[in-house]
Amino acid sequence: MATEQLPPRRPRGRPRDTGDKLCPRCERATTRLESLSPGHVFCRSCIETALHTHGTCPGCTTDTLLPGLDSEGQSICSDCAGYTRNFTCSRCSKERAPYRRGLCEWCSLADDLDSVLQPSAFSPESAFGSALRSHLLEAARPRSIVRWLQNAQVRDLLSGLARGDVDATHESLDQLPQNASLAHIRALLIDRGQLPSRDEALARFTAWIPMKIDTVRAPESRDALRRFATWHHLRRVRMSAEKDRGATSAAHNAKQEITVAANFLNWLGDRGTALSSCGQEHIDLWVSNGPTTRYTVRNFLTYTAASQLSRSLVVPRRTVKSIRRVDKLERIEMIRRILDDRSHPTSHRLAALLLLIFGQPITRIVSMTIDDFNLVDTGAQIRFSDDWIELPPAIAKLVADHLENRAPTMTRAVDQSHYVFPGSRPGQHIHRDSLKTALNRLGIDLLGTRNTTLDELVAAMPSPLVADSLGFSYSALAQHESFQGLRFERYVAGRYSD
Ligand SMILES: [Zn+2]
Ligand SMILES: [Zn+2]
Ligand SMILES: [Zn+2]
Repeated sequence: MATEQLPPRRPRGRPRDTGDKLCPRCERATTRLESLSPGHVFCRSCIETALHTHGTCPGCTTDTLLPGLDSEGQSICSDCAGYTRNFTCSRCSKERAPYRRGLCEWCSLADDLDSVLQPSAFSPESAFGSALRSHLLEAARPRSIVRWLQNAQVRDLLSGLARGDVDATHESLDQLPQNASLAHIRALLIDRGQLPSRDEALARFTAWIPMKIDTVRAPESRDALRRFATWHHLRRVRMSAEKDRGATSAAHNAKQEITVAANFLNWLGDRGTALSSCGQEHIDLWVSNGPTTRYTVRNFLTYTAASQLSRSLVVPRRTVKSIRRVDKLERIEMIRRILDDRSHPTSHRLAALLLLIFGQPITRIVSMTIDDFNLVDTGAQIRFSDDWIELPPAIAKLVADHLENRAPTMTRAVDQSHYVFPGSRPGQHIHRDSLKTALNRLGIDLLGTRNTTLDELVAAMPSPLVADSLGFSYSALAQHESFQGLRFERYVAGRYSD
């Protein structure tokens, strides 16, 4: 079967450099073509894909490696593709990506693990060694572990653990190249009680602080940032780590504030100004000439003023935009920003998106109940009337996150509340003024929407085109339709009724 006049296959990964050769499979320029089988040369990316595609061959229904392509672009086995190279591993007899000396990647990894872990040392008390071996052999990409095992420190650690004469500590593991295998080994040790459990987000944040501080050039500024990072943030992140939800989101927010503060300090340094002599004019210049994340410097400056490291300075509120006046692109930008900006609480982001995407009024958003959402395996649905509307994946994720953690305060259980946005008093939903304040903080001008007519709101709703440009994927036409005019009349009807 001719395999070379084929429709182009979309290669994985980022675009590579140009070269003077053309890969016959993906039709992209490359500097080097390699042999997949005698007489069949392709670029590295296509060969990698070919050697890691397994499944049932549509030509002969064998379940095996599918390195070839048929005229329709379907992956087929090497026999059907007419390849003469033998892809069968000389040990496990499976057709798998050959790695070295006739062995597949898995058999090569098994050999390496045996030499590192020395199975003779697998006494009953070293069950860890065999547990580790079988865990690592389940890897989807054994080659990356083979390479990882080339690090002498990694080999020493693993053989020591298998023999039982090395007590791993989190600190010793932190010194090794970090990858998924190490994370796995750490989890295995914690699971077996050989390591105390710890919050990985907190650990990573703790290790990240000094690296970030090093990026600040002036010593005085570095000191201010160190104090802010340690006394203001690290303390909070530690407190979150002790709670059930863990430190992930607290660490994320902290990193964002510290990063902006570091940028601000270097920006100030570039202007020959020390933090102690920073004036209001600097702040005004800083926020008016850059991305809106620059406003995030507020907490840092509140901290430095309170610690007498700077004067008392005012970071203005973000310039707010009226929904009424935003055009399509601005609105997309706003939706995108709210989806990405994890520095704001999930509840506020979700409420903002309901407003921006569905034009729902605040009074209606605050009183939504969990029955208005339907979490399904494939995502989430929402209803404003009797129709369930499929939510785009990014928003479905936010809904799932929010519904899981919607307590208004850290200490209150919400299991009893059926409101999507519970208030601080038991059995009540959030007050609309609180939500308005929160949305203003997100940069949404609600006053501007007061006089907005319903028509304008409808016009501002996402067409599938807008949704597509946000990177939402719609697998079915039915999902497109649920965003189109007809059904919108029903949301609108729902809106009128409140
Ligand atoms: Zn290619
Ligand atoms: Zn076949
Ligand atoms: Zn094998």
